[in-house]
Amino acid sequence: MEIGNLENHVQSEPMEESSQAQISHLALDIGGSLIKLVYFSQNSDGGCSKSSVQVSNGNEGGGPVLEGKLHFAKFETAKIHDCIDFIQSKQLRITGCQHNGASANEKCVIKATGGGAYKFADLFKEKLGICLGKEDEMDSLVAGANFLLKSVHDEAFTYMDGQKEFAQIDQEDLYPYLLVNIGSGVSMIKVDGPGKFERVSGTNVGGGTFWGLGRLLTKCKSFDELLELSHRGNNRVVDMLVGDIYGGTDYKKIGLSSTAIASSFGKAISDNKELEDYKPEDISRSLLRMISNNIGQISYLNALRFGLKRIFFAGFFLRGHAYTMDTIAVAVHFWSKGEAKAMFLRHEGFLGALGAFMSYEKHGFDNLMVHQLVQQSPSASHGGDKTHGPADSELNDNPSINCSIYLS
Ligand code: ADP
Repeated sequence: MEIGNLENHVQSEPMEESSQAQISHLALDIGGSLIKLVYFSQNSDGGCSKSSVQVSNGNEGGGPVLEGKLHFAKFETAKIHDCIDFIQSKQLRITGCQHNGASANEKCVIKATGGGAYKFADLFKEKLGICLGKEDEMDSLVAGANFLLKSVHDEAFTYMDGQKEFAQIDQEDLYPYLLVNIGSGVSMIKVDGPGKFERVSGTNVGGGTFWGLGRLLTKCKSFDELLELSHRGNNRVVDMLVGDIYGGTDYKKIGLSSTAIASSFGKAISDNKELEDYKPEDISRSLLRMISNNIGQISYLNALRFGLKRIFFAGFFLRGHAYTMDTIAVAVHFWSKGEAKAMFLRHEGFLGALGAFMSYEKHGFDNLMVHQLVQQSPSASHGGDKTHGPADSELNDNPSINCSIYLS
């Protein structure tokens, strides 16, 4: 996919999303926990113009340009009917359906990735009359990551000690990198270039583990409630620390401070307490720390295996959550002795859906070409801001992107 020079594009005013806005393209990533949607809506003036914009490498054909926005939305997979209702309410006008004049069941195709693209194919056909055009999950993840890293300004950032800093990514020096996608499970992918990658590792202890185990242990009713609980918790009540073993002192010889966790949940062995004796917030914090730490460590070991300095973390487990990102970043920093860097993506959970969206071009389906994304919508935050707690969750939920689609 060609990515244009961002500065050469005329930026249109962002439109307010409304149910009247014409949704012409939509892609789905139907995962084990969440369904992610990416859809394009044209600007309110119709936004379809003959290209008069100077772009460095886009729209050579001089065809019409659709100007608008990419929107992002997510639903729990267990509530797939809400997602179907949402798509229905958007009065999706798939270009292929309108132009071909073919029966809906035959020709209406929307790109979809993730296991649910197989599992729920019949449901989409039955309820919406659309076929899911299946795209490979890893291909989509990598395409989405490359696209965001190359085209979207202020997409990647580091997070350390409550300080968020946007990273300047040199497009010429992007590869290789390690992509760690923390969804229900975790995939670790070494990315060497566009479409060039290998899934080098993964772990089954991921977002699904945090939410599943956390729900059992705390009786929380939602993921966000569990995350919220973790803010108020103190993991030292549950975890066995080096100081607990060493009588309050550090184990200096091997560089372990007295506050380092020797064993997650280790205090529960000796405390002679039952689950009810622990505060749910302490359990939530300990669990979040255990899983984030573990993922950070395994990621670093894989980066080390292949000599990769940059690790990009994505997936909805992160949820723009300060403590989660901080724990992962500290783990990478600690184990790499400061050599490797953890970076996070603002559109963390939408990589797969974005990659599926991109594949419209790849397959030449309805002649769609997305040449460039211009920049984050103005509501996006800017670099160097301090975020605490879950402050970024809202931002990461639906950060829409202004963009142009070139039709040939
Ligand atoms: P998948 O494709 O496997 O569904 P995601 O990237 O969507 O992966 O991440 C799913 C994980 O995100 C869950 O396992 C959970 O840890 C976390 N999560 C964040 N928000 C929610 C939510 N509202 N409901 C369920 N899980 C959530």
